[in-house]
Amino acid sequence: VRILLGLDYELFFGRNTGTPERCLLAPTEALLDMGRSSSLRVCLFVDVGYLVALRRHATAFPALDRTFSVIAAQLRKAVSLGHDVQLHVHPHWEDSRFDGERWVIDTCRYRLQDFNDSDTHTIVREYKAVLAEICDRDIYAFRAGGWCLQPFPQIKNALKANSVWLDSTVVPGGHNPDPHHGFDFRGAPSAEQWRFDDDPLAPDADGYFLEVPITPVVTGPSLYWKMAMSRVGTGSATFDRFGDGDPIEHTQSYYLTRLLSTTVGPASVDGAKASYLPRRCRELRGTSGLFNVMGHPKSLTAFSLAKLRELTTYEDTEWITFRDFSDYAPSAGRT
Ligand SMILES: [Zn+2]
Repeated sequence: VRILLGLDYELFFGRNTGTPERCLLAPTEALLDMGRSSSLRVCLFVDVGYLVALRRHATAFPALDRTFSVIAAQLRKAVSLGHDVQLHVHPHWEDSRFDGERWVIDTCRYRLQDFNDSDTHTIVREYKAVLAEICDRDIYAFRAGGWCLQPFPQIKNALKANSVWLDSTVVPGGHNPDPHHGFDFRGAPSAEQWRFDDDPLAPDADGYFLEVPITPVVTGPSLYWKMAMSRVGTGSATFDRFGDGDPIEHTQSYYLTRLLSTTVGPASVDGAKASYLPRRCRELRGTSGLFNVMGHPKSLTAFSLAKLRELTTYEDTEWITFRDFSDYAPSAGRT
């Protein structure tokens, strides 16, 4: 099995964003520590909009400049230890501001598709450039914030113009009917990667983009009951997450669906979801199959770390990053 672990490196976007210390720095440091004594490799999908916002407000609030520097140092350290850093886009940072104490988050324009064509180009260009400058390396892989990859034609040209050619957003079979930030990945191929052009769900051998989908996991209602219970405080410290902010509220139907029925979600290391990882990984053992796992530093728990540690003890696994896909670059000898 080849294991690809891609974590969205971001704060919370609810009323309280939480602190960079607990949402980003501490959990990521724990991962880097684990990587020193094991084969674990991680790709940080960095929410660069936050870094751009830190810079934008740094003149008025010098403390934000220090935050930027500490985060940049951690990203450089991750790269120097053999981990990967790629682009995650949450464009609502363009509309959010710092009031001197906290971030006032405005998610009216939550998706890149909510911005006009010119702004979309500017955002992708700036975010990629800031990350490339921090890490001193080319950035070419992308994960859409909130899985909002569709409609793809609205963001395609901005990604292509900036040579962002690898996407890892699709969760085959996943579906969220939310009218503002929904997605529909039902009908995606079950392959472990494919090229596409206009539609991430429609393979096109000559397409510019490469999709490396997140491995889907079918979960029953019991997982969500477990998560709901651990949230009301019956759990032990094992299920306390690193992050200290509030998530965006989902609609009630989102929770009801998950508490009552079987759903398809991404293989994830977040909190109790990590309980599925060893079984799903074992299903792929003995094959060269790709196990593409996602998650968030802010949502990691001691339980998550224990499950990751368990995966590193499997003998027939290889931890890879998106760097290992560089041969698939559209310019690399393709006709
Ligand atoms: Zn995100």
